[in-house]
Amino acid sequence: MTVPFVRTAPSPTGYLHIGNARSIMFNWLFAMRHGGRFLLRYDDTDRVRSKPEFAAAIPEDLAWLGVIPDASIKQSERLALYDEAAERLRAAGRLYPCYESADELDRKRKRQLARGLPPVYDRAALKLTAAERAALEAEGRKPHWRFLLDWEEVGWNDLVRGPSHVDCASLSDPVLVREDGTYPYTLPSVVDDVDMGITHVIRGEDHVTNTAVQIQIIQALGGALPIFGHHNLLTTASGEGLSKRLGHLSLRGLREAGVEPLAVAALAVLTGTSDAVRPVASLDELAGLVEFAHVSRAPAKFDEHELEALSARTLHHFGFAAVAGRLAALDIPATEPFWLAVRGNLARLSDAAGWWQVVEGPITPEIADPAFAAAAAALLPAGPFDQTTWKSWTQAVAAATGAKGKALFMPLRQALTGLDHGPELAALLPLIGRDKALKRLAGEAA
Ligand code: GLU
Repeated sequence: MTVPFVRTAPSPTGYLHIGNARSIMFNWLFAMRHGGRFLLRYDDTDRVRSKPEFAAAIPEDLAWLGVIPDASIKQSERLALYDEAAERLRAAGRLYPCYESADELDRKRKRQLARGLPPVYDRAALKLTAAERAALEAEGRKPHWRFLLDWEEVGWNDLVRGPSHVDCASLSDPVLVREDGTYPYTLPSVVDDVDMGITHVIRGEDHVTNTAVQIQIIQALGGALPIFGHHNLLTTASGEGLSKRLGHLSLRGLREAGVEPLAVAALAVLTGTSDAVRPVASLDELAGLVEFAHVSRAPAKFDEHELEALSARTLHHFGFAAVAGRLAALDIPATEPFWLAVRGNLARLSDAAGWWQVVEGPITPEIADPAFAAAAAALLPAGPFDQTTWKSWTQAVAAATGAKGKALFMPLRQALTGLDHGPELAALLPLIGRDKALKRLAGEAA
C-alpha cells in the first residue's frame, strides 16, 4: 500500500467538536497505523465566517487529542493556485459564467418544484450569447462561475463504504467561483488535495456527493485521484447532527470538563462500528483497533454518559507513567503507590487532588465512637506499614471488639479519611502512615 498522506481540513468558523474528532482521528490513526503523514489544512476561504481565534484553537485542540500534524497550510494563502486552476477550467470550457441573482435562482427552483421537477440548475447561462453576456455586465452584473458537469455516473471504490457511485446527471453544476471572486470549498479542496499529493481523503458521508463532483474536477484538471473514504456521522442520542452549537461537546468544552482525550478519541472512532467501545492505553493501541470495514452505514449515536464512563475507565487503566507529568502539572506530588491506590476512584484526573489531601492531610476525622477508635488505635501495628498492615490490624480489632463487616470497617474509614467512601484502605493506610493514623483515630485533624 502507498504510504498514506492524509489531511484534516476544518473551517475555522467554530471550535472543533466531537463530530470533527471522528474524522480527525480516523485520519490520524490511519496514518499512524501505516507509517503515513498528516496534513492540517485550514479551510479558511470564507473570509466572513473564519475567525482567528477559531484558527488558533485548532492546533491546540488537536494537540490535546494527541494529534501533531506533520505540516499545515492555509487556503487563504493559496488563492493564486485556485485562480490558476479556475483559469485552466475556463480554457477547457468546463467553467462557465452565470449571472442569475440569488433571488432569480430561488424563483427558478420554486417553479421547478411546483412542476414536480428536481431543483437542478437549468444551465440557462450556457445559452447566453456573447452580446447577452456583455449586456448583463454592462448592467453591472458580475458572473459567478459554474463547473460543467459530465452528466454521467461517477464511481469509486470507497475505503469505508466499498463500491460507490453518484449519478451526476441529477446534480446542479456546482458554483466554483462566487461573483466576488471568492471560492466556496469545492475547488480549493481539490486543488490542495492534488497539489499536496494527498493519497487518502477520509471524511464524513455528508461529502459523498462532493466526491463525485470533485472526481470530475480532478479529472478535468488532469490530477491524480486520491482514494476516498466516507464514514458515517456521529449524531446525538436522538439522532440529530452534532452541530457547532453544542458548546459543551466542543473539544475545549470537554477538556475544561476534565474528560480524558484518549476516551474522546476512542469513543469518536469506535462508536458506530461493530467494535466494542472500550478504554485503550494509548493511541497506538487505538490505531490497531480501527477497521474501516467495521464502520456501519447507520448513524453513529454518540452518548454523553458513555463518554463520562469511558473517560473514568480510561483513567482507571492508566499506569503511573502515563499520568505522572499531568499530576505534577496539577501540583500533586504523587507517587506510583498513591496512583495505584486511588486511580480506580477517579472520575477525573483532578479528583486525585482530593485523595492526595486525604493521604497527606490535614483532614478532619469523623469519630462516632471514641472508645472504639481508641481500642483500634491501641492495636495499630508498629510501622512501617505495608499492604498487609490493614488486614492484620482489622483482624486484631475484630477479635478485640467483636465488630465485623461494615461496623468494623466504616468507623475506621471515617476516622482515617474523614469520608465514608474511597479507595481500598489496604492501599491507603501505608500512604497515610502510622503517625497520622494514630492522630486521626484520636480525633485530631492531621
Ligand atoms: N472543511 C470541510 C469540512 O469541514 C472539509 C471536508 C473535507 O474533508 O474535504 O467539512
